[in-house]
Order: sequence, then C-alpha cells, then structure tokens
Amino acid sequence: MADCEYSVPDKDVSGDNLYGPRSCYQPFVDWAWNSYHFDSDWWQDGWGFDDCCNTDKPLARAFNGLWVLNYSAEDYQNEDYGSSMLHWAGRYVREQMSGYVLRATCGDKIATTFGAGCTQYRNDVKWDCTRYQRDGYESCSWECCDWWPCSWLCEAVSWVCKGWIWLTTQTCVAWGYVASWFCTIGNEIATTKRIELYLNFFYGSQKDVPGRASTFVHECRHIAGKSHRGTFPPGSGYGSGDGADESWEYDGAWRWQAVWLWWFYVDGKRTTQALRDKAKDNANFIIQNAFSANPGFIIS
Ligand SMILES: [Zn+2]
Repeated sequence: MADCEYSVPDKDVSGDNLYGPRSCYQPFVDWAWNSYHFDSDWWQDGWGFDDCCNTDKPLARAFNGLWVLNYSAEDYQNEDYGSSMLHWAGRYVREQMSGYVLRATCGDKIATTFGAGCTQYRNDVKWDCTRYQRDGYESCSWECCDWWPCSWLCEAVSWVCKGWIWLTTQTCVAWGYVASWFCTIGNEIATTKRIELYLNFFYGSQKDVPGRASTFVHECRHIAGKSHRGTFPPGSGYGSGDGADESWEYDGAWRWQAVWLWWFYVDGKRTTQALRDKAKDNANFIIQNAFSANPGFIIS
C-alpha cells in the first residue's frame, strides 16, 4: 500500500468511531472474513491485516460496512427475503459473492466487479430478445379490412408474422444461453471472479459506513446479472457516458443501492439520526444522478 495516497476524513461524521468498536470483535472478524471471502494477499501491510481494529485502515473500514449491512434491522437474526431489505441484504451479498473474492487496491474509483460479464451478457441478450419480441408483435398487429377474403388473408399474414417473431425470439434467447455458457468457461480460466474496492470506497465523502454497505449491495446486483446499460443524464454528479441504469424499472444496481439506503434512513437501528439523514441524501443523489430517465421522485 506504499504507493497509495489517502487521508482519513472525520470518523465521527463517517460513523467509523461508532461502528469501529463493534466490528472489532474477534468472532465477528472471523465470520466476516470468511463469509465475504476476503482475499488475504490483498489486505496485508497498510491495508490492515495485522491491525484490523484500526479504523484509519481499509480493512477495519470494510468490516464496519459489513457490520452495518448485517445488523441494522431491529431483529437482525431474521434474514428472510420476505422481510425488509435491511434484514436480508447481508445474506444477499453473501450468496451473490459465493465464488467471488474481495480485494482492496489503489485507485480512486469506488468498486468494480470482475467476472459477472457472462451472466450480465445472458441477461442483456434475454432483455433485448424480449424487447424484440414485444416490438415485433406490435408491428405484426394491424387493422384488418372487414370484407372477405381480404380480412381472412390479412389475419393469416398477421399470424405468420407473429409466428416468425416467436421463432426468431426463441433462437435469440437460446443463442444468449449458448454464448454465455462458452463465455463462462473461458471466464473461469481467464478471470478471478472478484470485487475490487478502491480508495473512494474507504475514504470517499459519500462512503460513510452505511454508504459502504450500500456499495456491497450495488456490486452484488451486478453479480446477479444486471449491468449498467444507460448513460448518465446531462449534468449528472457521476459525470457523463456509460455507467448509469436506463430506468428505475430496470431494477439494476443503482436502484438496489438507493433502496437499501432508503430503508436505512427509514428504519436503520443501532445508529444515529445524522447517519440516517445522510443515507437519505445519498439515496436522493443516486435517484437524481444515476438514471438515464429520471425516476421522477425523491425521498422526503
Ligand atoms: Zn455499478
């Protein structure tokens, strides 16, 4: 970590002073280390491996994020997917991360997931095929004349048209599966599936402790197959170009992150009002800046 430059922001504001003593508890450290697949080589030296209670260092700050991810529901033992997201987000991240490792490294981005490309590819193809099918069916539906034999012929052509769309859609979806299967095999050989965390995850202004928890949710939505398919809206605080989700309805990583922050604002336990208010601000920032089509609401 010698070549990484960073400074530690106010730890009362970030929540690290609040959560640090809680995650500095050996059974929690052992459990989190194994459950979230910390890749040992990447947390040595300045990253905190031998100093995992020191919240100036990245490892302890990552533990804080995982603590808040797992223990912010009133009855946190209940991780049922039928309960609110505060209950099951920690479990969701654990399940998505099976087969993935967690690394920390220099760079001023927040986080990147490697190895989800094939799952994302298959989902994207499926999504495109579905859209192709919907548009195709629409273009095969036209007003038919009401005199025979014109009406009969017209209906028949419309059905042939729809049949063709159906067939090509199935081929399209099947192709997506075959291609992603080949992709996966190549991927297993070529890539270590992993989430990489960068300096802005540990020290960035939006990455107080709950902000870090929300980043885990975001990255795991990528592992589940949702890539960013949109471009940032004009004037976005995230810059321009790729990396946005096209809409709220797309149900992608940005929405999941915002929703987790929203729940934390509404119902987060064992925390402070200040951190909850900041979670609301961060969620609203995402809602305003991370979607190509503005979702059209803010959390008040
Ligand atoms: Zn993302």
